[in-house]
Amino acid sequence: MLSTRGAAAVTPSMAILRGLAPDGGLYVPAAFPQFTLQEIASLASMPYVQRAHVVLSRFLPDFSAKELKDAIAGAYGTGFDCEAVAPLVRVGTRAHALELWHGPTLAFKDMALQLLPHLLTLSARKNGEEREILILVATSGDTGKAALEGFLDVPGTSCCVFYPKDGVSQAQQMQMVTTGGRNTHVIAVNGNFDDAQSGVKRIFADPAFAAKLDAEGKVLSSANSINFGRLVPQVVYYFSAYADLLASGSIAPGDEVNFCVPTGNFGDILAADYARKAGLPVGRLICASNENNVLTDFIRTGVYDIENRPFYKTNTPSMDILISSNLERLLFDLSGCDGAYIARLMGDLSQKRRYAISAEMLEAMQARYWAGYAEQQAVCEEITRTWREDGYLMDTHTAVASAVLRAYQAQSGDARPGVIVSTASPYKFGASVLGAIAGSGACEGLDDFACCRALCARTGVPEPEQIAKLPSLPVRHKAVCGKADMAQAVLDAVCG
Ligand SMILES: *Cc1c(COP(=O)(O)O)cnc(C)c1O
Repeated sequence: MLSTRGAAAVTPSMAILRGLAPDGGLYVPAAFPQFTLQEIASLASMPYVQRAHVVLSRFLPDFSAKELKDAIAGAYGTGFDCEAVAPLVRVGTRAHALELWHGPTLAFKDMALQLLPHLLTLSARKNGEEREILILVATSGDTGKAALEGFLDVPGTSCCVFYPKDGVSQAQQMQMVTTGGRNTHVIAVNGNFDDAQSGVKRIFADPAFAAKLDAEGKVLSSANSINFGRLVPQVVYYFSAYADLLASGSIAPGDEVNFCVPTGNFGDILAADYARKAGLPVGRLICASNENNVLTDFIRTGVYDIENRPFYKTNTPSMDILISSNLERLLFDLSGCDGAYIARLMGDLSQKRRYAISAEMLEAMQARYWAGYAEQQAVCEEITRTWREDGYLMDTHTAVASAVLRAYQAQSGDARPGVIVSTASPYKFGASVLGAIAGSGACEGLDDFACCRALCARTGVPEPEQIAKLPSLPVRHKAVCGKADMAQAVLDAVCG
């Protein structure tokens, strides 16, 4: 694997163990495996876990077949509510939805965070790291629970999550504080998300803290989305979607498919690009944003500009983001693997809060990508329309992609099959979905759980057990700390 900023190459397991390269760059494959159409067609008759094995073994050559088989079985076995793991569902006649939310926390982060702990512990072993790995996470809601569930009772690891005390939804807080397991810790911070995030960054940068942990036989690591171990599991489901289209006779081997992806940190859509680079017949990658549409402008103009750009809090909170860290991997690819050039662009971003790519890079990007955005009102209308016309209930993030795919199809006349990447269960954002379908008055006076029950009563779409049972689960994590006391809170939690 190479660093996007030019540091020395390492093995995949080392890239996963390190997360970030020593020069601050992100790890990318030095060369992409190449799947033939015949190999891709053979996936059609396989279950998801076997598809995952075929794809991952080619991207992670320093992992043995047995290691990957066990890791995949551990990740996608019992935690998912259907054997398809990532089922492809028809949405009317215009599209398919690739549902990535059948895991334990009902959002697509599970696809990567269920596998990452296994890859990380294997990577540690391969590289002589014998200490227990302590994962530290600051969360604004969703990532924390997905990390907790992923690392829950995984031997050789523990996971400590900080969330802003009054800064997450009631359902999100309950999801986290009711987590079981012997190695999970959840701590509320008296402060906002930035306080929690800064506190975690300070702990990572503190050598005295590292020494204290080392004395206890522990070492810090991160489950951040820049880790290649979070990206590579996401490549699998694009192959799987294509295999499902083959299996249903919707396409023939070699036909191209467009994917429309609701985008925040650019990890999910980049994984589709990596599938394409490995030989999957991918047509257009459609990058769907909300009001925070810095990526729409970038893909249309080649200028990434966050100076003077307002930050909107929307009904798609997982996409409320202005700096999409995984974009660096695309830039590296478009530049012909020019690490010095990428280091310069990233320098511009942190100093001038903007950068511009060359005309050739823009042209190459636009040959692969198209971009659009949907505002909150349009998102609500898309949920209502898709429910009414197609009988398909989608969450707000999925609705952004659905609306943008609709706009793309109308404008381009592109008749290739379109797949909407569906990133959350409608019940994960039940209040917004109920408000869209029944009018905002329907949510008045209801908490998140009552909104979900009302949504179920109104639509007949079954409410996932993870949500329904949440109000009755015992609260296991009650720790609260000041924003200056986070390091001590970690030590109190993990060192007993
Ligand atoms: C994280 C997330 C996204 C954005 O995915 P990226 O890989 O960050 O682009 C979209 N939808 C949901 C529900 C998410 O949790």
